[in-house]
Amino acid sequence: MPLEGPLDTVIKTLAEFRLTNDQLLEVKKRMRTEIQNGLGKKTHDNATVKMWPTYVRSTPDGSEKGDFLALDLGGTNFRVLLVKIRSGKRRTVEMHNKIYAIPMEVMQGTGEELFDHIVQCISDFLDYMGMKNTRLPLGFTFSFPCRQTSLDAGILVTWTKGFKATDCEGEDVVGLLREGIKRREEFDLDVVAVVNDTVGTMMTCAYEEATCEVGLIAGTGSNACYMEEMRNIETVEGDVGRMCVNMEWGAFGDNGCLDDIRTEYDRAVDDLSLNPGKQRYEKMCSGMYLGEIVRNILIDLTKRGFLFRGQISETLKTRGIFETKFLSQIESDRLALLQVRSILQQLGLDSTCDDSIIVKEVCGTVSHRAAQLCGAGMAAVVDKIRENRGLDQMDITVGVDGTLYKLHPHFSGIMHQTVKELAPKCNVTFFLSEDGSGKGAALITAVGCRMREQEES
Ligand code: ADP
Ligand code: MG
Repeated sequence: MPLEGPLDTVIKTLAEFRLTNDQLLEVKKRMRTEIQNGLGKKTHDNATVKMWPTYVRSTPDGSEKGDFLALDLGGTNFRVLLVKIRSGKRRTVEMHNKIYAIPMEVMQGTGEELFDHIVQCISDFLDYMGMKNTRLPLGFTFSFPCRQTSLDAGILVTWTKGFKATDCEGEDVVGLLREGIKRREEFDLDVVAVVNDTVGTMMTCAYEEATCEVGLIAGTGSNACYMEEMRNIETVEGDVGRMCVNMEWGAFGDNGCLDDIRTEYDRAVDDLSLNPGKQRYEKMCSGMYLGEIVRNILIDLTKRGFLFRGQISETLKTRGIFETKFLSQIESDRLALLQVRSILQQLGLDSTCDDSIIVKEVCGTVSHRAAQLCGAGMAAVVDKIRENRGLDQMDITVGVDGTLYKLHPHFSGIMHQTVKELAPKCNVTFFLSEDGSGKGAALITAVGCRMREQEES
């Protein structure tokens, strides 16, 4: 028998990350159970996948029009946008936006500081657009788990993705925003809707493609939403029609139901995160964490002498150093191994040719699993919709946004393939839906304004 080479050992280490078809089917099944728990009146309180109602009752019908302001908070960048929607024969959506930084000390300071900062950015934007004297309707894309009680009220359940500002959890974020605007006494706005980015993404796609009834984000975080039957949403009164539910599926697994497939590296990433034990599925699937999983594997392999000549450099010890964009670069099919080494070099990691082969293998394995897990979750969603409608076969479109989905060389393909295999009765089309947080928020705000006018007349 040939002597076991380093690559064989590495392959053994990575075997845990390779999920079988049965395991993926099991993940799909468990997601379905958690969906049911989130929707059920009696099970909701203890459910991990919360299935929050969004009060978005229909996708756009094309008659939406007007000027809207949108805020996008909860991604890498905080943005303020002006969206001009024209209806009629020539439907157009014109967008202007500015990106603003949210300094770490504001992200993790007090809620008042955070909202004062947000209002300060809006002020700057309105000056820039010359629109300070109009009371514009605003859609607030706030991509954190919120307990909504109406279109314009959302209580922050818990921060995720690195945010930690105090005195916000348990508060209505629309109220916090309105108070911030009042404190400044400089301009007025009509806050109409609080919007999750998944819902914005679905709405943006649905504006172009009527069969879109699902939204998916694969970016910093991972989440999905879809149009559920009112009769199945036991946490909201009424049985007629549909409502979009923000699944908050990132928390899938927080009750331990994915522990059999989580590895020691997943646990290490979780333990050192800002929210240990929370968002376990998201931590296996999304951009914020994939690089960290890779880094933890690399450290372990180095400790065991299979990488970097057994030397753990200060760089490798640095949290966050291995960003997910490096996975995309390293896994690019066009890249020669020498270029992989040069990427590692840029990161301050001296590698041999063998090292670069191993690193590429590690990256590929971690992102492959991420895409499969995301696909298994999506398979559960589309099959649920199909069953809701009593169909043997169903065509459906999913609007997707997120840099991981857009820029990773293999993530989208593997995810699509997984959905196809795990939900063969659904013919799913994925539609890249860019800027849902801006355009989608404006569309939801437009629909909200229209509904309000109908109620008043
Ligand atoms: P957000 O989800 O924050 O609204 P994005 O969809 O742009 O915004 O996602 C940003 C995340 O995407 C980053 O946090 C990072 O993890 C990941 N990312 C950035 N660049 C790349 C890339 N080239 N390939 C894959 N993932 C990337
Ligand atoms: Mg985003």
